Amino acid sequence: MVVFVCSTLTVFAPSGDDLWVGCFARKSKPTHLKLLAGYLPIIPPPPLHPKTLEPVKPEDLSPLFPDELIKQEASSERFIDIPEEVLDVYKLWRPTPLIRARRLEKLLDTPAKIYYKYEGGSPAGSHKPNTAVPQVWCNAQQGIKNLVTETGAGQWGSALAFACSLFGLNCEVHPSPSNITEAGRRILQIDPSSPGSLGIAISEAVEIAAANADTMYCLGSVLNHVLLHQTVIGEECIKQMEAIGETPDVIIGCTGGGSNFAGLAFPFIREKLNGKINPLIRAVEPAACPSLTKGVYAYDYGDTAGMTPLMKMHTLGHDFIPDPIHAGGLRYHGMAPLISHVFELGFMEAFAIPQIECFRGAIQFARSEGLIPAPEPTHAIAATIREALHCKQTGESKVILMAKWTWSF
Ligand SMILES: *Cc1c(COP(=O)(O)O)cnc(C)c1O
Repeated sequence: MVVFVCSTLTVFAPSGDDLWVGCFARKSKPTHLKLLAGYLPIIPPPPLHPKTLEPVKPEDLSPLFPDELIKQEASSERFIDIPEEVLDVYKLWRPTPLIRARRLEKLLDTPAKIYYKYEGGSPAGSHKPNTAVPQVWCNAQQGIKNLVTETGAGQWGSALAFACSLFGLNCEVHPSPSNITEAGRRILQIDPSSPGSLGIAISEAVEIAAANADTMYCLGSVLNHVLLHQTVIGEECIKQMEAIGETPDVIIGCTGGGSNFAGLAFPFIREKLNGKINPLIRAVEPAACPSLTKGVYAYDYGDTAGMTPLMKMHTLGHDFIPDPIHAGGLRYHGMAPLISHVFELGFMEAFAIPQIECFRGAIQFARSEGLIPAPEPTHAIAATIREALHCKQTGESKVILMAKWTWSF
């Protein structure tokens, strides 16, 4: 049986302390592990095999993922080294800037200090290359030549294509639902004009990976190893905030599958559990796809056809299809199991914001800071503006930290 032990708080850190000084947390001392485990009262529920309903064993995942990523998925290590080759690629855009949004502060006339960690300078324009690169590298190490995945707005797809080109793997793209898989054909039979969903595209990708020995599956969010890779964001941020003598009072991130949020927030939650800081940690989701605030916390499939393991998560149901007019992104039916778990434990809060308020916030941000956000982080921007305006009322000069990225073209 595989027990998934709070890898929530595992951190993706480089092996040498001298690398990128000022950006990464040092490797923890052995006592760290015990301390942290002591704070997390309950181990996250394990994923279940879709047929036997028994906890998933590592070998069950072998048709889909390389050994190293399976190991990371179930790891209870505190720190996992970033491979040298991955660090070398990260140098293209990391460390990413932590920017004070002074002009937005002025526009809102707020005493709050607003900082954003900007992941938009990566080759794909989002945080996705942070995990695409290590995922492809792990597959390439195992001699895998073909990868299959799904993508929504294309940010994950373009990040994975970028990583594939670095390590010599090919990339082809099919619109979903497609005629090349059983899962896709079944959906099209019922509704030939189906708008598709991430859940359907995942079913198609998993079906292809499971049927081909030389093909592995990659996911851009939700899974533990993906969240783990993204913690490079929060680790850098802790160092950057330390360097300018600031401590965040409120940390805000948008949640689709939860990877950018976890990437920023989990290292801060670890610091919080260690008693070093006490920020409010706030996830923001679209009112049109409210998995954390309106979903049930239950075992559900990650895909529409029910081929993935069952994961205990906040879910709107694996057959959820978002409203086609919802343009704000973050349309996945479930929330990352680790975020769901941390939410249940009360270490963070969540709320949903309607689309118009998000886009209004994006316009204020673009007009004052000069950067057009992707639709997804407009949720974090809207929540940041709400908090900043609240500070204006109370006169508090809270330090607000949010994650932001940009369009990919
Ligand atoms: C990955 C992705 C999301 C979800 O982001 P998380 O950080 O995992 O919540 C939303 N929209 C697009 C286009 C994405 O690529």
